[in-house]
Amino acid sequence: VFKDIYPRYKTMRGYSVPRKAGWDCHGLPVELEIEKELGLSSKREIEAYGIERFNERCRDSVLRYVSDWERLTERIAFWIDLSDSYKTMTNDYIESVWWSLKKVFDQDLLYEDFKVVPYCPRCGTPLSDHEVALGYATVTDPSVYVRFPLADDPNTKLLVWTTTPWINPEVRYVAVEHGGERLVLAEPLVHRVLGPDAKVVEWFDDGSLEGRSYEPPFRFAEPAKRAWYVVSAEFVTTEDGTGIVHMAPAYGAEDLAVGREFDLPVVHMVDEEGKFIEAVTPWARRFVKEADPDIIADLDRRGLLFRTETIEHSYPLCWRCSTPLLYYALTSWYIRTTARKQQLLDANEHVDWYPDHVKHGRFGDWLANNIDWSLSRNRYWGTPLPIWRCPQGHLVCIAEVADLAERAGRDLSGLDLHRPFIDEVAFGCAECGGEMRRVREVIDAWYDSGSMPFAQWHYPFEREDVFSRRFPADYICEAIDQTRGWFYSLIAIATLLWGRSSYEKVVCLGLLVDKDGRKMSKSRGNSLEPWELLDRFGADALRFFFFTSGNPWASRRVYPEAIEEVQRGFLRMLWNVYSFYVLYGNTEGIDPTTVFIAPADRHELDRWLLAELHDTIRTATIAMDSYDCTGAGRRVAAFVGDLSNWYVRRSRRRFYAPETSDTDKAAAHATLHETLRVLALLLAPFTPFVADEIWDNAVRSVRPDAPDSVHLADWPSTDEALIDEALRGSMAAARHAVGLGLQAREKAGIKVRQPLAKAEVSGAGADLAFRHAAIIAEELNVKAVEVAPEPPSGDAYIDATDGTMTVSLDTELTPELRGEGMARELVRAIQNLRKKSRLAVSDRIHLGMEAPDALWVEIEPFLDRIASETLAVSSIRGAVEAPDGKADVTIDGARVTISLRRA
Ligand SMILES: [Zn+2]
Ligand SMILES: [Zn+2]
Repeated sequence: VFKDIYPRYKTMRGYSVPRKAGWDCHGLPVELEIEKELGLSSKREIEAYGIERFNERCRDSVLRYVSDWERLTERIAFWIDLSDSYKTMTNDYIESVWWSLKKVFDQDLLYEDFKVVPYCPRCGTPLSDHEVALGYATVTDPSVYVRFPLADDPNTKLLVWTTTPWINPEVRYVAVEHGGERLVLAEPLVHRVLGPDAKVVEWFDDGSLEGRSYEPPFRFAEPAKRAWYVVSAEFVTTEDGTGIVHMAPAYGAEDLAVGREFDLPVVHMVDEEGKFIEAVTPWARRFVKEADPDIIADLDRRGLLFRTETIEHSYPLCWRCSTPLLYYALTSWYIRTTARKQQLLDANEHVDWYPDHVKHGRFGDWLANNIDWSLSRNRYWGTPLPIWRCPQGHLVCIAEVADLAERAGRDLSGLDLHRPFIDEVAFGCAECGGEMRRVREVIDAWYDSGSMPFAQWHYPFEREDVFSRRFPADYICEAIDQTRGWFYSLIAIATLLWGRSSYEKVVCLGLLVDKDGRKMSKSRGNSLEPWELLDRFGADALRFFFFTSGNPWASRRVYPEAIEEVQRGFLRMLWNVYSFYVLYGNTEGIDPTTVFIAPADRHELDRWLLAELHDTIRTATIAMDSYDCTGAGRRVAAFVGDLSNWYVRRSRRRFYAPETSDTDKAAAHATLHETLRVLALLLAPFTPFVADEIWDNAVRSVRPDAPDSVHLADWPSTDEALIDEALRGSMAAARHAVGLGLQAREKAGIKVRQPLAKAEVSGAGADLAFRHAAIIAEELNVKAVEVAPEPPSGDAYIDATDGTMTVSLDTELTPELRGEGMARELVRAIQNLRKKSRLAVSDRIHLGMEAPDALWVEIEPFLDRIASETLAVSSIRGAVEAPDGKADVTIDGARVTISLRRA
């Protein structure tokens, strides 16, 4: 919904806002889903099933999701053109992506390298840095201390620490110790590892351990180069362990770097599914992490195990399948984004971030710590990497299908560019004549997503004009986790191609959490089903909740009761005002468009409402212009509160009462009409359904020239002249005085229905409030309002204060005040009885009241008033005959029986 609101707003402000929908179709999430459906659990099984059939299933499932999303998109009123969407799996899209990769290739920024990469053994593919960042979890791993005897002095054993005892061979750096046996470790760690009694018996000179051979715990491989000796490396710390760690160049980035420095052999004992190879006889074909306990037991049996513990640490899991990642040496393809780091940082300088701190915080840090983009995936359902290679290693990067067809010497116009079809396209190498075949990898689906600005148009093959008009985008919006996903891929690709960002403004949302602040997830069982919420509360309530319930940048607590509050509070209030307008607009037959009463000539409540309305327009406009829909929505909601609780409540009778002059009645109608018209406009981006309903029924019905829908209308403009600040200030003071006066009544324990003689207002704002003395008097049900320099003293006074303004009520009751209070109690009881007896609002009645003498004396002076307020054509002391309704009420401790009959 946040992707929707600003485009709606900008449209109303007169901008052209094309809204092409788009679908990310490729990648592991889709493949994983199909693997589950088909019951496949490895790449081997996928290949046995057939890549063609597998990819066909992937394509179908994408289309299935598209229709689900389309339904939801419509239901939440996300205004976007679904009929003209782009899909990243079409040939056109893929061809544009190829074109961009060729651009990158030509700049010598696309390269193949043998590196240790974060690797998902289940998915059988390396992951990029930004994918790894998506999936950290706290895991428990063994922490093992192993003895490695020195080859030329087997009684001296290196004490080696590792959390990954499955990795195989070589060690470095050291100091000494003893404890029944001679153990070698770093001196600062002696006591921590071996306890206070440990005694140092030998100190090794700097470097004297280096190069010494040790007896490896396992000899499953016979390396071609010298192995199993001590080397030193700076990354080994004395913060934990023993100062001696075990390294395996094939399974750690640092290990590989050190391995290269010392020319150590890189030996793979683990296959691409994360299982030990056949040579590792005891554990062949076992997943390495699962073999840990057996390996530890084996070391123990052979007296090599010194100690085993467990540690908890943060470890990356595959963001899609939750398998612990391995660090694995592999040949794969990279984009040298590090070569463009400064340009990336510069591009980011031109982007406005909401909230601002992400720019140099989370996102800026991410860019500053940029590493090369691990682009290739050893998978099936993705954009094929368009690189062909001959046996001599010559490379060609293909930018367009036509070029490929020409090289291959055949028509490829009908070719599906996915695997396995593209893999069958071969051609002769221009340099050596050898057969060029495509490398087997597909690319990171995030690269597809980041190519959207041009690939959705099939640029540069088509629609160059559209692309150049729309690039860069004014605005994008996603949750904060996309700093490592889409926000990154978009800026990275545009920077590689054009040296600038593909977006100018980013709204970055917080994540959704449950009532207790926990991240929502299906596995935790605390995620919410959107359709359920929509069915229960409606799209408007859901939308308004998201826009206004909290800071959009922070994580958001979402739970049904919170959405219900919006429905029952704000939306119901709005609906009640609207219904009131429609009811009296119809019954009184007033056409508000024919009323020409200058605002200055209207009732002060009308003038006040228009002042608040135009202040609301002003405030909401400023807020929306700075992408603060929360501030805008809250101002509108506060206005609706004022409208309902103050304007309509205080103005009710002006709309229908016979004593209202025609002019005043018309002014009230015109004011409320204008207010609802503007409200519909203000609410259109927030609550599109109710806004359009109000527009249709209250605006279009009387204004034939109005646009067909509120969503085709212009955003309202502020009329500064109507913002009477003095009136806003005095009315606010008066409302404040009323609030204090009601507090004082509550303190005194006197119901509002009981009239009191006087309220005295003193302190700051008292003079302002006094401009609306009549309103205060009515609201507080007092006969007089006065401004006093000081709060009056005396037993009869009860007051309430906020520290600056004080309102004091004279609580002394004269018999007349008491009688009037009782009369009002009676009126209320009679009104209830009328309702209970199902009388129409306009029905006249005959009224009977049976009351004790003492009470009758007090209410008698008010009989006319009781009769007129209850539409009684006659009233008697006693019971009416054949009553339509009868009830007992207690007034001031005495029982009164009232009865009535329709006249
Ligand atoms: Zn995985
Ligand atoms: Zn060649």
